Amino acid sequence: MTGSHQDSTRDGSTVVVAIDGPAGTGKSSVSRHLARRLGARYIDTGAMYRVATLAALRAGVDLADPHAIAATVADVELTLSNDPGSDDVTLAGEDVAAEIRTEAVNSAVSAVSAVKEVRTTMVDRQRDLAAGEFAVVEGRDIGTVVFPDAAVKIYLTATAAARAHRRHQQNLAAGLDSDYASVLAAVQRRDHLDSTRAHSPLRPADDAVLVDTSDLGIDEVIDRLAELTEERIGARHE
Ligand code: C5P
Repeated sequence: MTGSHQDSTRDGSTVVVAIDGPAGTGKSSVSRHLARRLGARYIDTGAMYRVATLAALRAGVDLADPHAIAATVADVELTLSNDPGSDDVTLAGEDVAAEIRTEAVNSAVSAVSAVKEVRTTMVDRQRDLAAGEFAVVEGRDIGTVVFPDAAVKIYLTATAAARAHRRHQQNLAAGLDSDYASVLAAVQRRDHLDSTRAHSPLRPADDAVLVDTSDLGIDEVIDRLAELTEERIGARHE
């Protein structure tokens, strides 16, 4: 990667590497490491939907009521760092980096992120965070909706079994109780909800490069994505 792409772009343009795909493909680790390697910003859009979900849970909103969810999330006060070395994320000034990864949030996030108004608010914020930057942006609809003109679009896939296995290992490593069959069922449930929702369902953009991570280690995936990015962005700027 040339030095001209360090963080903010010189000409003020927004240069996005969009990384989409379901949970458990290694997407978050890969995206964060890739951003570090490229000298880019990193935007974890899933963290934003998680904060919105935490706000809804704390407000005691009925998750079956999209209007109530939309009203609560409309003025949610959230901040998210776009530094790949930081996972700082706040809700009304409070550090919620750990709380947004709890089971309570995992099981409610699909309902909250399916609400159209929630998506509109979050997409605006995501575009603001990336404006004028060279950024790796990670999510479900980055290449299709948020940045349809992204310089590079990657869609990470892996079998549900491989993804559940990774999640299960992460849980055990974190000292949490974990049962593989339940993890697999949860992965499948979330995939189903995310890919069948009416607004911005999870799907690869027509021009995305599909990378199956089932049998690849994280370093292999990062190498592959860095190569793809250099090919595309190098070519654009030559
Ligand atoms: O990536 P992560 O697993 O943290 O995302 C949590 C949830 O947020 C996803 O299951 C999905 O429901 C939602 N999400 C979304 N659009 C994005 C990113 C995440 O709907 N761009």
